[in-house]
Amino acid sequence: SVPAAIAAALSAGARQGLLMKGGVVIETAARTGLVAFDKTGTLTQGKPRVTDIVALDREEREVLAFAAAVEAGSAHPLAEAVLERARADAVAFAPAAEAAALAGQGVTGKVEGRAVFVGAPRHATARAPFDDWAKASVESLESAGKTVAAVIVDGTLAGLIALRDEPREDAAPAIAELKAMGVRATMLTGDNTRTAAAIAGALGMEHKAELMPDGKVAALRELAAGTPVMMVGDGINDAPALAAASVGIAMGSGTDVALETADGAVLKSRVRDIAAMIRLARAAMGNIR
Ligand code: ADP
Ligand code: MG
Repeated sequence: SVPAAIAAALSAGARQGLLMKGGVVIETAARTGLVAFDKTGTLTQGKPRVTDIVALDREEREVLAFAAAVEAGSAHPLAEAVLERARADAVAFAPAAEAAALAGQGVTGKVEGRAVFVGAPRHATARAPFDDWAKASVESLESAGKTVAAVIVDGTLAGLIALRDEPREDAAPAIAELKAMGVRATMLTGDNTRTAAAIAGALGMEHKAELMPDGKVAALRELAAGTPVMMVGDGINDAPALAAASVGIAMGSGTDVALETADGAVLKSRVRDIAAMIRLARAAMGNIR
């Protein structure tokens, strides 16, 4: 039978939108020494906005039109932001042919017979040469915490699109709270190292960047060598990482799918609820001992 303290913690948590799937999850959450957070949509709002368009080989509006055409077939948050900007600027585009997503890299497609790639500069340099001006532009945008999408048309770098996804308002205080509880916090992201360092630095946490989807799983296994690790992610593409962690917590209300793989959830998209969950778990275990 489930000890009364655990049953009480489960129902008290549920009332606050902190769901844990049973006693083993509470017991492991209480011993967690490190929380790994997905960046996009978990620590940040998940609503990036285009902040800069750098025209290199093409006019600004052409850069945006090529990018929107290939992003039209993508469900990635960056794609949505590019489309929103194209609509706002009344830039016309038709969805690309042969559109395909390259997980953790970007998207490709054919626009008016031209091969177009939109994605991470580190995966773009093999597709087109970057001159010193382009490289310096990428570096300064990334150092400002922006994600840069390189737009390549037929092997030429047409331009750069910079996007910024603001951290959630409670992210910095939540990380400080975890630290005060003796729990380390680290950010896991597919985004580049400079952008990740800028955002993680502002939040006062550690980071591991440029992780391909299976790289998050490998990073978690490594982190879990010393202490039980809690992974917090916002959804479907985090499912493998949530499953690989000692405790996987889905964040947000649209987490029905993630909840199947996860050990629990915080329903209100508040980063501070992760600290609240660990506190609750610790209190429940303290009452048993
Ligand atoms: P995250 O861990 O931040 O969710 P992903 O693994 O989805 O990142 O993608 C890693 C990187 O690949 C992104 O930071 C971005 O640079 C690039 N990328 C992926 N998909 C797209 C896209 N549709 N448009 C532009 N860039 C993309
Ligand atoms: Mg995410």
